[in-house]
Amino acid sequence: MKTLRTIREVRQELAGGGRIGLVPTMGAFHDGHLALFRAARDECETVVVSLFVNPTQFRANEDLSRYPRNETRDVQLAETAGVDLLFAPSVEEMYPEGYATWVDVEETGAEGAARPGHFRGVATVCLKLFNIVRPQVAYFGQKDAQQAAVLRRVIRDLDVELDLRFLPTVRDADGLALSSRNAYLSEQERRQALALPRALEAGRSAHVDGSDPVAAARGALNGLVPEYVELLDLGNVTVLAAAARIGTTRLIDNVILESRARVQPGSGVQTKES
Ligand code: AMP
Repeated sequence: MKTLRTIREVRQELAGGGRIGLVPTMGAFHDGHLALFRAARDECETVVVSLFVNPTQFRANEDLSRYPRNETRDVQLAETAGVDLLFAPSVEEMYPEGYATWVDVEETGAEGAARPGHFRGVATVCLKLFNIVRPQVAYFGQKDAQQAAVLRRVIRDLDVELDLRFLPTVRDADGLALSSRNAYLSEQERRQALALPRALEAGRSAHVDGSDPVAAARGALNGLVPEYVELLDLGNVTVLAAAARIGTTRLIDNVILESRARVQPGSGVQTKES
């Protein structure tokens, strides 16, 4: 596996064809990331992973400076998962002096409201990565379901020729969704955090029984104060999504309630679309 830092090097390295799969990440790899790398490995000749803690998707008061970074470990994990190229640019490489162009997707619910400007940063960096790597396929996790919907809109609205794959959320055995931010949690906070997936699961059961999933999830939060619990219609899926702070750590999670794509509610089936 090669680690490259400049756009020019990446373009040179990838010239010459083959089916390229891209997995955009912010590093601190866990099994959720590795599942995306493996899916790309199965389907593509060349697997590119970007490792970039994108400052433009963090608000001023958020955790940019303490976001977990461990490139040495990430390099080893990516190499073991069969990644061919790790693109780990500097902030200056991605946003040089005078940078002024943004992809602003209209997304107002849930994370759009809770983190103004967040999706603008995500959409901008992903479109830049699509242009730099020129993949045929890009891989994302259902863990960030609203982000997935935003990127689907970007490629449709801006006519980007790209297939998107969305893979199911990978969870610890007790149900907590894997997240790089779980590293911030103390043992006690981690136990409290379990209320989030449990509440969402209660919401999903309520939905299956024909009752209100939001009320059921709110009622099962076990004292955790949510930032939001919302039903999100994301085009091909309806999800029940929630965000909550445990101490200083902000976690998000969601479960699928209805699917109009090739994925069953609550199942681990991968969605494919372009
Ligand atoms: P991040 O490094 O947190 O920006 O995530 C990079 C990609 O991994 C995004 O597409 C996420 O949705 C995906 N991802 C993060 N956590 C998980 C998880 N627990 N299961 C599956 N995919 C995930």
